[in-house]
Amino acid sequence: MSKCDLCEKELGKNEYSLGGRNYHFSCGYETAFALKEAAVNYAFKMNSFVALGISLVNREFLLNLFSNNFRENETISATFNVGLWRTNSPSIIIKPPESPKFTKIRPVQGGVSIGNVNFPVAGTIGGVVIIENEFCILSSGRALAPENFELRDEVSQDAFFDGGNEKDIIGFLSSTALPVKGNSNTMDCAVAVVYEDVGVAGRIVRIGNIGNTAEPLLGMKVMKRGRTTDTTQGVIICTDATVSVIYPDGERIFRDQFIVAREKSNFALQGDEGSFVLNENKDVVGIILASSNDITVVSPIEPVLERFGARLLRV
Ligand SMILES: [Zn+2]
Repeated sequence: MSKCDLCEKELGKNEYSLGGRNYHFSCGYETAFALKEAAVNYAFKMNSFVALGISLVNREFLLNLFSNNFRENETISATFNVGLWRTNSPSIIIKPPESPKFTKIRPVQGGVSIGNVNFPVAGTIGGVVIIENEFCILSSGRALAPENFELRDEVSQDAFFDGGNEKDIIGFLSSTALPVKGNSNTMDCAVAVVYEDVGVAGRIVRIGNIGNTAEPLLGMKVMKRGRTTDTTQGVIICTDATVSVIYPDGERIFRDQFIVAREKSNFALQGDEGSFVLNENKDVVGIILASSNDITVVSPIEPVLERFGARLLRV
């Protein structure tokens, strides 16, 4: 019987590999995580860096380096060559949605257009949450709190960008968790209090009532409903990822994100940010941060809810 290279206990059927050594799942993940932490400070200084995280392919753990330039990849492979897997992937660039999209629905719920009424922006409502006994909507910081926002700015569903008008105003911006330049970011989110005379529901358009929250796991099948690309499916291919996102005024580095691969079509596009990502039980695992045509970067939901002192409305 072979033994785990980390804990030295017998492996049995719980056998995974990394860099030619064998581990239990959790021991292999722990080892990959430590390798990733050692490699990431080097990796995100590369011009071609897009993301670095942990992937699992045929029971083998790999550090998955997403890069927009294969030649620079060769440099890092010589430095960190233990289980390194290279994925060619375009940079993740923040852009406004391409065109307006009408998605108005009442009661207010997840999966539809939202925007700060003072700016030409639109994102997606993730869902309704409860903060200090008030109903709020949780969405992307870029939809609710674009540059030069002020707290108490009003928000509308649909966003004015999507054809909404003053009759569609549903509440006001109340709290933000926005990224800063540097590498300490974990989310780009904001919440808006919903006015008392506006109805809300703990559901997502075309998906239905949401379950609880759950941890994002490698290989998990997920779905979302967003303003731009509607209902789509994907699979989590990378966890504990450090990701570079190019904002109009410069790069932001995000830690502890997970990455969803496209299946039949793009999992998400511009305007889908803020959408909740759910597993097959309809438990919420994350909220969309940003996407390229290739991959979608998602922030795990539990730290986001914790940051706002929020819980999901589920009915
Ligand atoms: Zn072990």
